[in-house]
Order: sequence, then C-alpha cells, then structure tokens
Amino acid sequence: MKSLNQSTVLNMIRLKEPISRAEIAKLTKLTPPTISSLVSELIDKNLIAEEQSTSASSGGRKPILLRINYSAYYIVGVYAAAEVLRVILTTMDGKIVTDSSKDITKLPTKSEFLNLMTEMIHSVLQVKQIERDLILGIGIAMHGLVDTEKGLAILSPHLQLDNIPLKESLENEFNIPVIVENDVRALAIAESWFGQGQGVSDFICLSVGRGIGSGIFINDEIYKSTFYTAGEIGHTILDVKGPLCLCGNNGCLEAYASETAILKKAKELKHQNKTILNEWLKESGNELSLKMIFKAAKEGDPFAKSLLEEAGQSLGLAAANMINILKPSKLIVEGSIFELGDIVLSQLKQRIEKYTFKSSHEEIKVVCSELGKTGMVLGAVTLVLKKLFKTEG
Ligand SMILES: [Zn+2]
Repeated sequence: MKSLNQSTVLNMIRLKEPISRAEIAKLTKLTPPTISSLVSELIDKNLIAEEQSTSASSGGRKPILLRINYSAYYIVGVYAAAEVLRVILTTMDGKIVTDSSKDITKLPTKSEFLNLMTEMIHSVLQVKQIERDLILGIGIAMHGLVDTEKGLAILSPHLQLDNIPLKESLENEFNIPVIVENDVRALAIAESWFGQGQGVSDFICLSVGRGIGSGIFINDEIYKSTFYTAGEIGHTILDVKGPLCLCGNNGCLEAYASETAILKKAKELKHQNKTILNEWLKESGNELSLKMIFKAAKEGDPFAKSLLEEAGQSLGLAAANMINILKPSKLIVEGSIFELGDIVLSQLKQRIEKYTFKSSHEEIKVVCSELGKTGMVLGAVTLVLKKLFKTEG
C-alpha cells in the first residue's frame, strides 16, 4: 500500500498534526519536491486531508496544514480471551464503530473456534456494510503462546487447543491482511499508542485475569524474543513447594494470584473462616463466584480482603523481581482485581517498594491501565495501525 518514505511522512503527520509540508521536509530531511509528491499520493488515498491554517506565517500567507483523515479507513480488532471472543470495528483513531462479544461457554474444537471468529467478523462487517477496500487489516490479540511470524496460536492452555492457523484461515476467508499477537503484548502495544505508555520508552504491562501475563516494552518496541514467547511472568516461581499450576509446575505466580487461583482458594478456605460469603451462599443457593469475593472485599469482609491482599503481595513480589532485571520506568497494571479501590494495588506497591534494588534517583511509577477491558481488543487494532505508520525496516 505504501513506500517507506510515505510511512515516514504519514507518521510525522500523525505525531505533529496539523503540520505544513515545509515543516515535514525540515523534520524528515526529505527534499520539498519529494514531500510534495508523497503528500499528493497520501491525499489521493484519502489518508490525509488539507486544512487552512488560522494563523498567518511570517510571510503573511496562511499555510496549508495537513491532518490524518482518521475516519477514512477501518480496522477490525479481535480479542480472543479464555472465556470470551470480542470483535470490534474502529476508525484509524481507535474509535469503536461496531462492538460484538460472545462468551465461550464450553471448550470448542479448533474448527469451531475458527468458525466462531469468522462468523463474528462477518457480522461486524455487515453492520456498517463497509467496502473491503476500506478495511486496512484484521488484528488479533490471542491469549496463550503465539507465533507472530506465522500468525499461529501455538498453545492455548485455557481452551486446550494448539497450532490454530489464525492468519492463514482468516486471510483466506476475508482477503484482508491479518496480524496476530499475544493478548498481553497487544495490550502493551495499545498502552504505548493510546494509553499510559505514550511517550514512555521502557515499561512493563502486567495483566491479571484467568491467567497472568506481561508485555515488555524496551527502547520503544515490544520485546518478543526469538521464540515469540517473552513475558510469561505468570509462570515465574514464587515457591517450588507451592500450589500446582496449569503449566504442570508448582508455585507459579499464576497459581497464587490469578482469578482462578483466588476463587479456588476461597472455595477451599471459606468454611474455616467467618465470612459474609458463607451467608450469601446460604441465602442464594448459588455457587461461589469471583464477583461475590470482590463485592465482599469492597464491603470490608476480612476473609475476602485477605485473599486479595495476598494476591497483591504475590504480584508485587513477582513484579519486583522483573523490575530488578529490566528497570522499566513504569509498570502498568490491568485486570478486574485492580478495580477494587486500593486493596490489591497498595499491597503490590508495598512489595515493589520493599524489594526493588534501586538508587535514590530512580522512580518506578505504578499505574492502573485506563484502557481497562478494552485494552486488549484495542491492542489488536493497534497492530494494524503500527504497520500502517511503521517508519523503520
Ligand atoms: Zn505455571
């Protein structure tokens, strides 16, 4: 769709808009005639638009300024979590045009999973009847181990599936480029583009849900490793004699602090403790849920609170280890357990403060993701945006 120089100009407009042709030439060190021809091509493609400046330049003439035409093209974002599939259609500024979610209630086969994803994308595209030419790509944020090169979901322990050919299958179906990334790495990419990671060259994104993962941003790029599997903080070991993890090892962070682990522990210990949960269960006849634990903790129930505080401590310990190795300037945390006021976050921060080895001038900011639940699916969209605006390689 575009040359390297075209991407450079496009990205410069994105970062500095509204901006004049002369200013772009100055900043990119490309010649004015080159800029002029690249800008014409971008205008022809409707990717950018001209506007009259309201202030006159020193010569008295009002310069023509350029802006990205964010609503000209669309992107499909897919978030494949362990328990839900979400598909959105957005404009180039990440504004959601159509949004659709489906719960995964029983373990699907590989083809059932691919069919569901395909159907959902079809129905999202049908809502606005957008021409295929106007769709820049499909981004997929997939949980578990992902091979980004092949666009393959190598392993999904939660769905008990392996080697799902996401890219191949969806490109055949839609004839639109497909980019696949691990969900937490996609979240980190979304944070760098739209969220708390903007302008931060080194940060870690820690996500806690049914599983626990991290996205590592180093020197303005997501770190993947040769095997595409970097960031598995959930399987770092806190105690080799600890509880059994889904991966087969004992004492992984995930076995202490994931939503699954918290619920399991609450079920095991609730009868030995005085807790409002026992009363609620008796009254309602329902099974214990994470929602109930969160609600009880918010209402000050000591048992529910202690479960979450312990999870916060485990997360803090693992995060401190990671911080000592990588020394990011920011840690962005995401997940429902961080939305319970300060219960989990304060414990996590205390552990980080206690166990990170640092000189006095170092300050590592710990913040909650503001993108929240939309972060992962917006990350899927960002995969396509990053490719469009890519300036190197
Ligand atoms: Zn594990």
